[in-house]
Amino acid sequence: MMVTVDAVTHERLVAEEVALNRMAGGLAAEIAHGEGEARAAAAAAKKQRQLRSAALRNKHRAAFLPMFKRAAQAIVRQEVKALRSILRRSRKRAVRADEEPPADDGALSLAMFDEEMAKFYEAFPDVIRRQFQPVVGAFAAVVQSVIYDDELGVDPPEDAADPDELAADFADDFADRHVGSAQGQLRAIVADSEEAGEDTEAAIDERLGQWEDGGDGAAVAWADKISGLESVRALASISKSSYAAAGISMLVWMAGGTSCALCDVLVGETTEIGGNFRDDGETVDPGGDSDAAPLKVRGEGGLPHAPLHSGCDCTISAE
Ligand SMILES: [Zn+2]
Repeated sequence: MMVTVDAVTHERLVAEEVALNRMAGGLAAEIAHGEGEARAAAAAAKKQRQLRSAALRNKHRAAFLPMFKRAAQAIVRQEVKALRSILRRSRKRAVRADEEPPADDGALSLAMFDEEMAKFYEAFPDVIRRQFQPVVGAFAAVVQSVIYDDELGVDPPEDAADPDELAADFADDFADRHVGSAQGQLRAIVADSEEAGEDTEAAIDERLGQWEDGGDGAAVAWADKISGLESVRALASISKSSYAAAGISMLVWMAGGTSCALCDVLVGETTEIGGNFRDDGETVDPGGDSDAAPLKVRGEGGLPHAPLHSGCDCTISAE
């Protein structure tokens, strides 16, 4: 039997189909809208967790800062004391070493000073590590907990670094940089004052005074600079390794609270977790309207995370 549809029924069926399609379309749009809203809400919640994590980690850094400072003070005090003693010894030995008493009895033997200084700095990294490692280790455990428990809501990943190992690596790296900087500064002073025919011993002594307490009071004691820079660096590098262990692939530069015109350029910039915000030789340029001059990033490793400069309190977060 053939089913025939008369014209009127056909019209009705078409109209019903159109209506049904409209309903379905509306429903699909509604679902899509709902999904969009859910996605937007999830993104907003994620942003909220990121901001809270960064704020919390910065707060912990502020709480740890006095401990970083005590460690840095112990390092610099011991260093200045040892170098003053080397200065004295190098002067006395210079007098004894000469067959003919030199015209100036108190002349400093620069060769002896350099030799003794090198010997001192060969052994000094152990002292630096002993001071820094416990502080950084305790800090790393707290930072990991904020990132895993609070921000990402995950169990610590299996390949998450042990806080003490992170601290050991960080302390080693800091010891290298500190010893390199100190010897570099002193050797530059020796070379400059020799060239200018100035009193080398007085010039060295002046720098040691600056390291101790900022010198004339206008400058900042070295321990303050160190604790500021290294606590920011520790926070950022521990955060980065924690994110990497959790499988996070992108990082974003975050302002700490007092970001300057230079740091403002980087705030909100993203990079892959294995990459750099700037490579060696690239600049951070605040633009012509700013009073701040562009800053060229130097160093083989480039700029993988904060700090950008002395006094920078920025950090990084998962993007
Ligand atoms: Zn900064």
